[in-house]
Amino acid sequence: MLKPSKIVCVGRNYADHARELGNEVPKAPLLFLKAPSALIADGEPIILPRASAQVEHEAEIGVVVGRRLRQASAAEAEQGIRRFVCLNDVTARDLQKSDGQWTRATGFDSFCPVGPRIAEGLDWRGLEVIGRVNGVERQRARSSDMVFPIPMLLSYISGVMTLEPGDLVATGTPAGVGPLVPGDVVEVEIPGVGVLHNPVKASDR
Ligand code: MG
Repeated sequence: MLKPSKIVCVGRNYADHARELGNEVPKAPLLFLKAPSALIADGEPIILPRASAQVEHEAEIGVVVGRRLRQASAAEAEQGIRRFVCLNDVTARDLQKSDGQWTRATGFDSFCPVGPRIAEGLDWRGLEVIGRVNGVERQRARSSDMVFPIPMLLSYISGVMTLEPGDLVATGTPAGVGPLVPGDVVEVEIPGVGVLHNPVKASDR
C-alpha cells in the first residue's frame, strides 16, 4: 500500500470535463490536496457518506513520484515520472459546489482508490485512462488530451511544495463523470497498468 506524504490533485485538466461542469479551462494548473487517509486498495469499498447525495467517480492517471522534486524544471520533473497507478478521485459533487473549496468533498475516507499495482517503465505520453461503472464505459481519454502535460504538472507543483518519493499526483479526469449508488462497481483502467475495481456501499453510520 502506498504511504504518500500528500496526494496532489489537478482539477479541470481535460477541456471536455471542464466544459461538462460549466467551468473554464484554467490558464494554469488548478491544484488541490486529497487526504492520504482517503486511500483504499483494489477491491475495497467506496463508502458513500450520509453528508452527500451526489458522490461521483473520476477516473484518473495517478503518478507515483519517483524522486524528490523541488523547484524542478519540466525536464527535471520528467526524470521523476516512471511509475503509474490507476486512481479514482471520488468526489462529493454537491459538497464541492456548496463548500466553495474541496477539502470535504474529496477527503472522505475511501475517496481515493488506487491500484491494482504500480507499473514502471511506461511512457507518460502514451497513456490512456478508461472509467467504467458496472461494466459500462463512461470515461476514456489519452494523456495527450491533457491541458497541461504530466512533466509540466510536476514542475508546477514542485514550485509550490516539495514532492517526495512516493507522493501521488492525480492528473485530472476526462468528461463522463457521474453519480455512484450502493451496489455499483467502479473500474478505472490504464492499459499497461491494470484495472482498479471498487464496489460502492452506503455508510452504515
Ligand atoms: Mg479529479
